[in-house]
Amino acid sequence: MPKRALITGITGQDGSYLAELLLAKGYEVHGLIRRASTFNTSRIDHLYVDPHDPSARLFLHYGDLSDGARLVTLMAEINPDEVYNLAAQSHVRVSFDEPEHTADTTGTGSIRLLEAVRLSGIHTRYYQASSSELYGATPPPQNETTPFYPRSPYAAAKLYSYWITKNYREAYDMFAVNGILFNHESPRRGETFVTRKITRAVAAIKAGKQDVVYMGNLDSVRDWGYAAEYVEGMWRMLQSDTPDDYVLATGVGITVREFLEISFSHAGLDWEKHVRFDERYLRPTEVDALIGDPSKARDELGWVPTVDGRELATLMVDADIEALEHAGRPWIDKVALTDWATV
Ligand code: NDP
Ligand code: GDP
Repeated sequence: MPKRALITGITGQDGSYLAELLLAKGYEVHGLIRRASTFNTSRIDHLYVDPHDPSARLFLHYGDLSDGARLVTLMAEINPDEVYNLAAQSHVRVSFDEPEHTADTTGTGSIRLLEAVRLSGIHTRYYQASSSELYGATPPPQNETTPFYPRSPYAAAKLYSYWITKNYREAYDMFAVNGILFNHESPRRGETFVTRKITRAVAAIKAGKQDVVYMGNLDSVRDWGYAAEYVEGMWRMLQSDTPDDYVLATGVGITVREFLEISFSHAGLDWEKHVRFDERYLRPTEVDALIGDPSKARDELGWVPTVDGRELATLMVDADIEALEHAGRPWIDKVALTDWATV
């Protein structure tokens, strides 16, 4: 029997890479998707096989982390060996605009899913997508023993999810773990996160379709890794003999300004000619510097990242330039050329 996994947030950046990884490992993969008025599965369309086809191993189910009863039903029906809780309102800036919704999805959503596991009486391993945002104002380097100091409604909601996961591990002897992941990016990254916003702008400017991009704080430091490598770390956490929490990071921090410089110069452009400041991209409280220490994941899981922020910038610029030239590939055929985002 193939192993069976349930992924919440399968339509997101990480969910799509994790689904690919698990399918390649022979898993039967089930994904929770939200009903929307338009299709929102562009990141996983390339994995789709008609469920009537006997070879199909990817199955999607409507549901929402705000609907606890549905989660219990699905858990009992699917009876997964592994559950990956990746769903969240995942944008820090947006969490200041929608704090209550963020608490409901990014915080309370996790307890609904853990309760669904407990109430349905299944034996499963549970992965919680925790975040380096938990460290917030605590200076780097950050590892599993560094004190948390959340600086946004998003981080506060993730803090709840972190502790409730740990509590269910201790209270009910569940195999439940937190992956404390530092920022990780890819050509599939949401368009309003800073890396992707920059690399899309570079492609559009290079193509002569845009002239400037408006940005906020360029001084913050992030430890940017490659999402495709991070989902491997998630999987390894659930294959471990004992449940524990792990940091995944590259250990290399660069500023937003450096990411801009590298991205623009990779396309033969001078970033200072094209970047303007707009205060609406500032946050009421900022996280100045995140640089992770991934030694524990390296030593205990054998997980070693190979791509850091500098290499990512060039990889993502190349992908966005190609996306503009060859529209139609999955996850890139919807590239919008206007800076419509307000976050
Ligand atoms: P994305 O924003 O790309 O994906 C979020 C996913 O959650 C989407 O599939 C989205 O569905 C789904 N979702 C949102 N709200 C709900 C809800 N109420 N019910 C069910 N599904 C919902 O995030 P990433 O893939 O980048 O990140 C994955 C997880 O890891 C998130 O929890 C994020 O907070 C966390 N994380 C991410 C980091 C990063 O750098 N990427 C760093 C640390 C943690 P839809 O497509 O319909 O919107
Ligand atoms: P975060 O680390 O989860 O908040 O990821 P983001 O990619 O959203 O932001 C990373 C850093 O870039 C933060 O310190 C932001 O303040 C900074 N930043 C500067 N300008 C922008 C911008 O225009 N958009 C976003 N999203 N972030 C910006």
